[in-house]
Amino acid sequence: MNKPGLLIVISGPSGTGKGTVCKALLDRNDFWISVSSTTRRPRVGEVNGESYYFLSKEEFLDKISENDFLEYAEVYGNYYGTPKSKVIEMIESGEDVILEIDIQGALKVKENYPNGVFIFILPPSMEELKKRITNRGTETEESLMTRFKCAYKEINYLSKYNYAVVNDEVEDAVNKIESIILAEKCRVDRIKSTILDSKEGLIHEQLYD
Ligand code: 5GP
Repeated sequence: MNKPGLLIVISGPSGTGKGTVCKALLDRNDFWISVSSTTRRPRVGEVNGESYYFLSKEEFLDKISENDFLEYAEVYGNYYGTPKSKVIEMIESGEDVILEIDIQGALKVKENYPNGVFIFILPPSMEELKKRITNRGTETEESLMTRFKCAYKEINYLSKYNYAVVNDEVEDAVNKIESIILAEKCRVDRIKSTILDSKEGLIHEQLYD
């Protein structure tokens, strides 16, 4: 049986750059990232099945009633959800799985999968966060204000997470996340038992929880 992979949840307020950080993390590592479903309309350049699975509200609600999501949330008037079966299949086959989701979703995942690794991405300052949301140029004035106000409230959930990473320079943030993942893989409570093979002088890691 394969050692199960880690479930790594990367989350934080809109505009902290978690998407950019995840992209850079995947460029350098062999992790598997879950593609979410959403009822939001595609932005220019977004491809169905790569950026998201773009669904109608009816399709999304059907999937909710079929219990197809690991978690889902309404974020700024649209639904977003993590398809469940694929994520579980990948973890069980030993892949380390990344979820890049909002805070409501991360807290729901934590209720059911407390063994996950929960990483909160913080902006270097609230001023910088405002600049980043504005510079993205994808939001209306009203949506900008909503996202910014929401970010203020969301930072209060930091204490529910295992780790905080400030995204000032993307490369530094990625280095920190890689270190977190490496440390998590070495945690004694993730390893059921280690056997010292006295003949060979080897230590074998056995099944993870
Ligand atoms: P955007 O519309 O900018 O792509 O995403 C808006 C927010 O939804 C971001 O904070 C993003 O991380 C979050 N999000 C994306 N996919 C999911 C998901 O599957 N579940 C939840 N709860 N949030 C998601």
